[in-house]
Amino acid sequence: MTLDIYDRTKETGELVFPGTRLAVTEEFIGGQGTYTEGNLIYAAVAGKVSINIERHEISVMSKPTTAVIPRNGDIVIGGVVNASRQMITVSINYVNNREIYPNYTMVIHVSQLSKEYLDTVDEAVCLGDIVRAKVIDSKTIPLQGSLIGSQLGVILAKCSRCGSQLDKIGRNKLKCKECSYFEKRSTTIDYGSGKLAFKT
Ligand SMILES: [Zn+2]
Repeated sequence: MTLDIYDRTKETGELVFPGTRLAVTEEFIGGQGTYTEGNLIYAAVAGKVSINIERHEISVMSKPTTAVIPRNGDIVIGGVVNASRQMITVSINYVNNREIYPNYTMVIHVSQLSKEYLDTVDEAVCLGDIVRAKVIDSKTIPLQGSLIGSQLGVILAKCSRCGSQLDKIGRNKLKCKECSYFEKRSTTIDYGSGKLAFKT
């Protein structure tokens, strides 16, 4: 079940993104790089999970940034910073599982969001979503990308009504845990797992 993956406590060394659910407060206290909402601990920064068993503390360590130049075929992860009817703009935080700085920007045309025909962007992706994408043209500025591929698409999304994290309940169907609002996204198989790493 997707829910089990989504709800499980993260392990030491796992790469997580801001907003990834890490653990419950019954199990751990939130350390550096985390924040707590209700009884849940979330990552406040992108980085690797660190667990101190003796202190029951879970933290996220920001990784040192590296200079990486995205190339065609590279897999990137980033947040959707702009969405119009026909394209989205993604601010890239990871290239091939490595955190990068400064951020590159990628645009993805509506025709590259899904194998199925879409009239508008919002049938697949919304502002604020975290996506895993592929670089299809690295010679242009901004880069051109695609979400078409089995491990590509939205990996984390928040409710457009209340801002809570959305749970995946069907292939491209999401539901808000807090307000029960339904939304549609083009999600990856591992949506909500908090796993950023791309397996080849
Ligand atoms: Zn909601």
